[in-house]
Amino acid sequence: MYKKIFFLLLLVININAHAFVQEIGPGVFVHIGKHLDVDEGYDGDICNIGFIVGEESIAVIDTGGSYLVANKLLKYISDNFKQPVKYVINTHAHLDHVYGNVVFSDADIYGHKDLSKALKSRADIYQGINERYLGKISDRSPLILPNKLVDINKPEYIDLGNRKVRLEAHPIAHTESDLTVFDEKTKILWSGDLVFSERTPVVDGDIHGFINVLEDLNKQEIDLVIPGHGLPSSKQYAIQPMLEYLIILRDDIRQFIDNGESLEFAIDNAASSQKDQWLLFDIQNKRNVNLIFPMMEWE
Ligand SMILES: [Zn+2]
Repeated sequence: MYKKIFFLLLLVININAHAFVQEIGPGVFVHIGKHLDVDEGYDGDICNIGFIVGEESIAVIDTGGSYLVANKLLKYISDNFKQPVKYVINTHAHLDHVYGNVVFSDADIYGHKDLSKALKSRADIYQGINERYLGKISDRSPLILPNKLVDINKPEYIDLGNRKVRLEAHPIAHTESDLTVFDEKTKILWSGDLVFSERTPVVDGDIHGFINVLEDLNKQEIDLVIPGHGLPSSKQYAIQPMLEYLIILRDDIRQFIDNGESLEFAIDNAASSQKDQWLLFDIQNKRNVNLIFPMMEWE
């Protein structure tokens, strides 16, 4: 774990852990979600959401898992800024990041070119999960699809007024619809779930693509990474541990397949050397192996 470094970083940037959002860089505000699984206790507030403030307008990045958490974000914005929320950016198709879109009805919603397709294909399952865990809240959190799509490897720029934000859609990695947001002014990267801090990374796309995208991001000049889950930190403490985990996971699985081991064996043993580095490891690492092992068997 890199808790000590996070702690030091928090002191330096003077985070107020009790506020709903924290200003992590000039005009860049984050609400840190809880480290909960989508299971008993899920309340739609488990991922990081936030916004960037320009002279003319505001861009919200991810809207949380329900209208409730998104409403709190909107209230904070309305109470503190005159600029309108003109843009909402969804970093990918997972339910905990997008079901607050409904709150920002006047904004354009940006996403990866495959985001709408991904959301539609997941909609029934997500609806069931929301009804089960969010109850009545889910009625007021309908799925709202993006209306502005970004092509892979063709970055788009949004101008918030003397502040440019770059949106970049990536090939399949954490999911089939990952999009990163880079604030040129502060060199802060919103990575979505391409980066998890503290909590075990999730592979719901392609392990090789995931490693490639992170290696690319690692070469870019980035001062701070805001992960999809967990505390913001420098590139070294955000991207490097992700790469370590994913490469060990991939190499272990490849080795087990070559040795003729079973899926069950791989579930129990792949990336076990990383167990103490991450929260929720037993639940999530198992899911990752379950997805990756059958895919790699065909390589
Ligand atoms: Zn995700």
